[in-house]
Amino acid sequence: MGEPTELRCVNCGQLFPPWSLDYACPDCGPDKGSLEVLYNYRALGRRLTPKSFAETQQHSLWRYEELLPMGREHAVSLRSGGTPLYSCRTLAAELGLRGLWTKDDGLNPTGSCKDRSTAVAMAAARKLGRASCSCASTGNAAVSLAGFCASAGMPGFVFVPETISRPKIAQLRAFGVLVFAVGGTYEQTYELCSEASAKYDWFNRSAAVNPMNVEGEKTAAFELWEQLGGELPEYVVTPVGDGSFISGLCKGFRELVQVELAASTPAVFGVQAEGAAAVAHAFARHKQGQTILPATEPAQTIADSINVGRPRDVLRAVRSVAETDGDFVTVSDAEINEAAQEIARRVGVFAEPAAAASYAGLLRLLDRADIPAQARVAVMVTGSGLKDAGDYLDGLPGPIVVPPHLEALAEHLDL
Ligand SMILES: *Cc1c(COP(=O)(O)O)cnc(C)c1O
Ligand SMILES: [Zn+2]
Repeated sequence: MGEPTELRCVNCGQLFPPWSLDYACPDCGPDKGSLEVLYNYRALGRRLTPKSFAETQQHSLWRYEELLPMGREHAVSLRSGGTPLYSCRTLAAELGLRGLWTKDDGLNPTGSCKDRSTAVAMAAARKLGRASCSCASTGNAAVSLAGFCASAGMPGFVFVPETISRPKIAQLRAFGVLVFAVGGTYEQTYELCSEASAKYDWFNRSAAVNPMNVEGEKTAAFELWEQLGGELPEYVVTPVGDGSFISGLCKGFRELVQVELAASTPAVFGVQAEGAAAVAHAFARHKQGQTILPATEPAQTIADSINVGRPRDVLRAVRSVAETDGDFVTVSDAEINEAAQEIARRVGVFAEPAAAASYAGLLRLLDRADIPAQARVAVMVTGSGLKDAGDYLDGLPGPIVVPPHLEALAEHLDL
């Protein structure tokens, strides 16, 4: 099972013993000092073979227990990970790509990629003997924590902006945690949860501050590698809000190289909505040699799960993507709409707007030749379309209203 050797601050590089801190580096603070969990990669490299993961016979993310911070005896029974990867051959050919895959992380138990991070964060809470958990989020992380709290029989306290979608509110109510709909932005929601968690000693699973999140998110990279038969695509495209998920993906690819299961990492591209692009802007500053922080901007997009004005993992996301020779791209809400419809129509995957941003980003990246013709590309679809009230489907034909008679039906069929 996994044994972390150290925690390292992504900003100052300071090392701390594993499990000595719950959240960020005390010197750099939560805005910059995200902690990264390190392992003995040399020892793991000697031990792990391309078949090691399959030998666990686990189909959840606990398949990668060797590279996780704790053993699966701490896991909550709700299953995360093991989501399908679809090869989209005709679409690839149309786009001039040698390979195109979509990974449907909307098939996690509460419907988004957040279940990966929650699975590991909740296992950490149990290992540490914590009595209750909390989370602030644009919706999906809160929903995910709520589901895992229900599964674990642990009290949960979640904070969401009052504007979140009705389906997400329904999930939160159903799982039975205490839900606070905050009359304010995600930024204010986040601060309130941080303060309350400190005061009441809740284990806070909010983005970036909890180093366990990225440990769960990185398993999507391991799965991609396994599902492609021990190979990696040349490019991976994923939506970005706070910047944690993309940091996790990059860490996963890096670790595959560190344990000598992969020769090199893919170039990882982050996609943000034009109206909420603080990480993309920070990346552009970084490329010009300027400082990455601060990055607080107004945020407005239909892709509510990535509607983030003050990204919490900006430093880590920018550095991780730069290390893979990737980049960022922004897309309009109209492009996101169109992409969601196209993924549904062409791949059969119903994605929420944030989750479809990756496909919209791919089209832009092909357009500006950042991803060349004949490349092999994986696109992360991070959340289910059932999470959204569906306004983004406006413009698509509605159902044909018919009386219950075969003759009436025939009038509408050209058969
Ligand atoms: C959270 C989320 C993302 C982005 O993850 P960050 O860690 O916030 O960058 C993308 N898509 C969906 C559906 C999400 O819920
Ligand atoms: Zn630090």
